[in-house]
Amino acid sequence: MSELDLQRLRAEGQAFMEEISRESYLAFAGLKKTAELQPIYEKYERVLGIEALELTLDAFRSARAGTDEKRSAQSLLEWEIESQAAKPLAALDEREIEWENTAFVQSPDGRVIQYQAAPIEIANTGDRALRLALDEARAKLVKNEHAPLRLERLQREKEYIESLDIAGDYNASFEAVAGISLNALASLCEQFLRDTESMWADTLAQVLKKSLGIKASEAKRADALALFRASEYDAAFPGSEMEGVMRRQISEMGIDPTAEGRIIFDVGDREGKRSRAFCSPVRVPEEVYLVLRPHGGQSDYNTFLHELGHALHFGYASPDYPFEFRWLGDNSVTESYAMLFDHRMHDKGWLLRYTGLGANKVGKFLRTAGVEELHFLRRYCGKFLYERALYSGEVRWSELPELYVSLLTSATGFEYDPADAFVDVDPRYYSARYLRAWQLQSVLNERLTARFDVDWFRNPSAGPWMARELFAQGQRENADEIAARAGANQLSFDAVIAKVEALLEA
Ligand SMILES: [Zn+2]
Repeated sequence: MSELDLQRLRAEGQAFMEEISRESYLAFAGLKKTAELQPIYEKYERVLGIEALELTLDAFRSARAGTDEKRSAQSLLEWEIESQAAKPLAALDEREIEWENTAFVQSPDGRVIQYQAAPIEIANTGDRALRLALDEARAKLVKNEHAPLRLERLQREKEYIESLDIAGDYNASFEAVAGISLNALASLCEQFLRDTESMWADTLAQVLKKSLGIKASEAKRADALALFRASEYDAAFPGSEMEGVMRRQISEMGIDPTAEGRIIFDVGDREGKRSRAFCSPVRVPEEVYLVLRPHGGQSDYNTFLHELGHALHFGYASPDYPFEFRWLGDNSVTESYAMLFDHRMHDKGWLLRYTGLGANKVGKFLRTAGVEELHFLRRYCGKFLYERALYSGEVRWSELPELYVSLLTSATGFEYDPADAFVDVDPRYYSARYLRAWQLQSVLNERLTARFDVDWFRNPSAGPWMARELFAQGQRENADEIAARAGANQLSFDAVIAKVEALLEA
């Protein structure tokens, strides 16, 4: 076999990603019973071999900072590390998926509930005593069976990454390769939690009293699930109109919602299809699937908008770019485009134009959305601070559950359960990508508003601008570079906080 160089790695890497992505699409869309990933891993063994890792590491170390060569090497190295780490963890992952698919929670009222459906059941249980008892049963199962599996996976992953010897420890190697400062982001999260502390305390006390009839001091995480179950407005978001509404909005923005046929809307009902919408980029930009079963309701609209943002990003990526700029890079960027669209659910003009909410309900809807947004942001800040401590190695594994409860409870105001300390963790700091996406989408929303007005979502000049200035660039630039290009000095939560305040006062 010929020697591996970057050119070959790109070609084989792209072929590998396309096959993996197609197989996953077919399985999750219900077109195939299972995803057969192992044969693909075997076929592309060389892409995930030690030679490939060393090649990308050398390229990364020798490229000059700030150049496209560096951006390229960085994306390839990050992808190599994640794919390589996935290999020794694959058996653990399979064991976990099997456990999750077969585990049951014994509800105290005699029902047997699938583990995966437990959060929905908890959210839907109106009787508070039963809700807490059901969550206790779930937590006991997690503590005894799920948490040990996840703990082992986290430990193996940390060991594996550190064995690559890229930088001092797990966190240093993440910072070196991702180019994201964990300490800087942690400071912003701590500041955000301080800045919104009293706003959150007041808001939470009010909604808990009104919606659940309980005091803030007694609220538990199971109550959060019940509180945010929002179904009151679902009639204003009919499933039968969802796809048409989304297509109309993108068309009004001046671009083709299918990107000249490259984005395929797979919206038919089919046995085995996942119930939640997802986006599968099988070939970027030529073949991008947006898959959903249109049930309708507020959360369906939200997910559709989110996945539509991803689909437009992939579908309008420049075909001339190398593999790594179209497929890889800082996922804070694609998440920010997804959030830019799903945040239209917080946009009064958008809601009045494209949904059945109407002027008399929209204010209350927005206030509720503000409560949810603030809760979600504070939870993610707490989660990120916890994950940073977890991966730092400075806190003993046995002491992490206590730290988890303290950080998440103080961030959200809901009492968390120590059993969830190892299952409520986003692998490889995906929480950091989400937090940066939140920041970047607010920068982009301000930029779009300044240029195309508050109703940029229906301005026929806005779509072509976004396609050219943002989507076509793939993830060549990271979130910080795009924010700078959009005129922001740096990523921050300032605009996010201002928006939450406006929502709460709507
Ligand atoms: Zn996403």
